[in-house]
Amino acid sequence: MTDCLFCKMVSGDIAPDTVYEDDDVLAFRDINPQAPTHILVIPKRHIATLNDLCAEDAILLGKLSLAAQALAAQEGIAEPGYRTVMNCNAGAGQTVFHIHMHLLGGRPMGWPPG
Ligand code: 5GP
Ligand code: ZN
Repeated sequence: MTDCLFCKMVSGDIAPDTVYEDDDVLAFRDINPQAPTHILVIPKRHIATLNDLCAEDAILLGKLSLAAQALAAQEGIAEPGYRTVMNCNAGAGQTVFHIHMHLLGGRPMGWPPG
């Protein structure tokens, strides 16, 4: 997807503050952090929203969670606690239409979220 911001990060056209990368997953710091740790974990393959997932994507979604788990440990937020969030569509606050898992931590988290 040439007009997708996160695909441009995957291709290297835009250089994010990368904290993790493998064959399937890229993770980088959010440009507008909402917590001391705010990392976005994305699949390298373009998937616009959670509504577009299919059964074959199950392993890929697991890889996003495992990358977030490892990054939480690396950031020192695994034991205090952290939150992962995936917003689906505008009503939930999705602004970039390439699925991504927010990893947030380093401060107390309220519930329910806004
Ligand atoms: P959403 O609102 O779609 O769930 O999350 C999109 C996230 O992407 C937001 O937290 C926003 O700050 C982040 N973001 C938007 N543009 C950029 C950018 O150019 N670089 C980085 N690193 N993050 C971005
Ligand atoms: Zn994309």
